[in-house]
Amino acid sequence: MACLMNSFKVPVQTLVKILNMGTLSLGKCRMDMGESAGLTRMFTIKKNGMDFVGQVRVRPGDPAVRIEVFNENYFEEFDKPESVVLDNLARKVLGQVAKDKELPETLKTLIREHFAEQDSLEEEREEGQEEAIAETVNERDLDKIFACLNEEYFNNRVEAKIMWGRDVKSHNKSGFRYGSYDEGKKLIRVHPRLKQGFVPLCVLELTVYHEMCHQFAPSYKRNGTWQSHHPEFKKKEREYKNFKDARNWEKHNWHRLLLPSTENAELVPA
Ligand SMILES: [Zn+2]
Repeated sequence: MACLMNSFKVPVQTLVKILNMGTLSLGKCRMDMGESAGLTRMFTIKKNGMDFVGQVRVRPGDPAVRIEVFNENYFEEFDKPESVVLDNLARKVLGQVAKDKELPETLKTLIREHFAEQDSLEEEREEGQEEAIAETVNERDLDKIFACLNEEYFNNRVEAKIMWGRDVKSHNKSGFRYGSYDEGKKLIRVHPRLKQGFVPLCVLELTVYHEMCHQFAPSYKRNGTWQSHHPEFKKKEREYKNFKDARNWEKHNWHRLLLPSTENAELVPA
């Protein structure tokens, strides 16, 4: 016989409210009197033709609720972690226990507060997940990319604003312009089609990096013509650590960028 003590402070990974716990029968109830008044209640649960025995205890303190099932093989009936099974079981058992009219109000409150706290923990956990997703999207945060590159390659000396350009919702015929640098405005514009998930981050980074190089290695006039991608520029450009990978991707995939972003596809006249 195994005895499993499980603290409810264990984070609830997945609250599966539709988990079939089995058929519950409450057993005898023992009330503890005095300062830390609480209750201990035995129960049996019938699942898949088997009887499992356990007990739940409620008392002021941390944790307020302890539940255990004496037959360890109960957990083999589920494909969820033990903590999840126990949490669901506690809700079922205490839901029944709380219906008891004899139950002191203090204990009812304790049970209510316990689950309210758990629910808010769960909400926080879900919010945390949303933040994590937002983090990923922010991988395409231009200011962040600019700041990182500026620190890593330019000693923070590049001074420019950066923004996404406007997308033209039509098929480009002549070619694709990844970005641009306006020297007068000190403004870098990046083509919004580089936001798309299929574009590797290094391609977006190289675009930003390339435009930063324009400020670092300015254009000059030679033999009457302006040189912008001159040898000094190219030397600096190749310092970017993923230069080859990014260029290689561009070589094989540039045509995919000629089409408007798929999220705008419906705006394109056929
Ligand atoms: Zn350029």
